[in-house]
Amino acid sequence: MTKKKSFVSFLAIFALALLIGFTTYQSSEAASKKSAGDSAPKKASPQWSYSGKGGPSHWGSLKAEYTACSKGTRQSPINISKALGTELGPLKFKYRKSLSLTILNNGHAIQINQRKGSVLHLDGTEYDLLQIHFHSPSEHTIDNKSYPMEAHFVHRDKDGNLAVVGLMIGVGSHNTALDTIWPVLPKTKSKAKLNIKYEIAKLLPAGKSYYRYAGSLTTPPCTESVTWLVLKDTIEISKDQLKSYRNILNKTNRPIQKRNNRLILD
Ligand SMILES: [Zn+2]
Repeated sequence: MTKKKSFVSFLAIFALALLIGFTTYQSSEAASKKSAGDSAPKKASPQWSYSGKGGPSHWGSLKAEYTACSKGTRQSPINISKALGTELGPLKFKYRKSLSLTILNNGHAIQINQRKGSVLHLDGTEYDLLQIHFHSPSEHTIDNKSYPMEAHFVHRDKDGNLAVVGLMIGVGSHNTALDTIWPVLPKTKSKAKLNIKYEIAKLLPAGKSYYRYAGSLTTPPCTESVTWLVLKDTIEISKDQLKSYRNILNKTNRPIQKRNNRLILD
């Protein structure tokens, strides 16, 4: 090989290495961004879903980053039963009123992103409320009872630890706390920024006693760094309100996972 030829081949190999490096960097960045929320699908390929080839039993093998979905030992949701009675500290919600919010239909759930300023105090730590989203039917079951819906209030502390409050939703009377957002739920995968007055705290039940256990995100990448706080008191929505949500998204619950030797405190 002449000097000129070998220089050209060196350049070609160098360019190829750069390209590979850049592509790998991009996909790992996309993956690390994804891990922040309980439901944060970006460009997942192959895409995870709640049924078929991308369904829950396949999540662990769809991507290397999703391994915890099949290999994890502290996965969520679980059936909540035989809780160990302890003196759990109170959940202190300090949620602010909102004048504008972003509602996102990400294809898996409808998510209401929160602006900074709403916090949850737990064990002397402050967790910022990031977003709330819904599953239908519920993901957790309580003494094997499933509910028509479950809301997840996703919080994160300054070190990245997540605390998710689970709220069971039954069918009964019309829930006025949803009156401003329910009529504007995005019907297809999209994001809408709305200037509407909304008080997220009104969705919470009066009683704030709860079950606590160590678990995971219930969607890929199923990361096991979540403190679950499942409220004992439930709220109600009307049959029509449930139908409105289910007409957009239904059967969006991961099946119950093995409890293994985890304690549930209450
Ligand atoms: Zn969730």
